[in-house]
Amino acid sequence: MPPRERIRSTHALVLRRRDVNDADRVLTVLTPRDGKLELIAKGVRKTTSRKAGHLELFVHASLLVAQARTWDIITEVQTVESFRHLRDDLDAIAAASYVCELVDNFAESNDEIQPVWDLVLDVLRELDAGAARHELPANLLRWFDLHLLSLTGFQPQLFRCLDCERPLEPTINFVNLHEGGVLCPDCGGRRNDVEPLDADTLKVLRFLQSQPWPAVSQVSVRPPVMRRVESLLQRYLIVVLERQLRSTLFLRRLAATPAGPEIDPGE
Ligand SMILES: [Zn+2]
Repeated sequence: MPPRERIRSTHALVLRRRDVNDADRVLTVLTPRDGKLELIAKGVRKTTSRKAGHLELFVHASLLVAQARTWDIITEVQTVESFRHLRDDLDAIAAASYVCELVDNFAESNDEIQPVWDLVLDVLRELDAGAARHELPANLLRWFDLHLLSLTGFQPQLFRCLDCERPLEPTINFVNLHEGGVLCPDCGGRRNDVEPLDADTLKVLRFLQSQPWPAVSQVSVRPPVMRRVESLLQRYLIVVLERQLRSTLFLRRLAATPAGPEIDPGE
């Protein structure tokens, strides 16, 4: 007797798509319970397809999926969140592309990743709301970087010296990206595989890493400090992922987002 077709339902966020066969498309999606999956949407490139609009990039959809030999097949799809404001704003599209690409690089298959799912959806909602009022939230992507790193086991050590484990003081410390953390002046000063890290940059990194988004969204960081934060995080991500992220350069424009009134992030 042939095995009964198995159908399951899942929420999914479309991270990536590629065309196969004449009219089909293979989608890389993020799901809360099964991590990253590749699924096939049959006939989705035909003009008559009713599924097509629900399977665009960055759509949060609810799917029914049938088990199959190569790719599991999407049999039903409904849009849960379309993020339609985000789609009208080039900067928001660039930011959403970055978010999806980064999570695509970190997520694995058959992995329950509810916290990562919640983080990514929250960031897309913030981008969508920002696009609706024509003001993208500053510092959101750097907050996302640090929280994604924490949730995936790559949290940089920003509070204690990597070598002697003493609490770091607000002075010039040192950072080692390959070891994923900061060294005090005594320990870092003796090594030649570190770079100096000023107190303001460390303070902002700690703030972004330790605070929830509502707190971070209230704060404006001086642009030169934010550029150093961005540079460090991008280089750390490259070390972690061992390769350059394609959308990084595309995003340089985001660094030029005008800053609001300056507020000190405090301790
Ligand atoms: Zn030390």
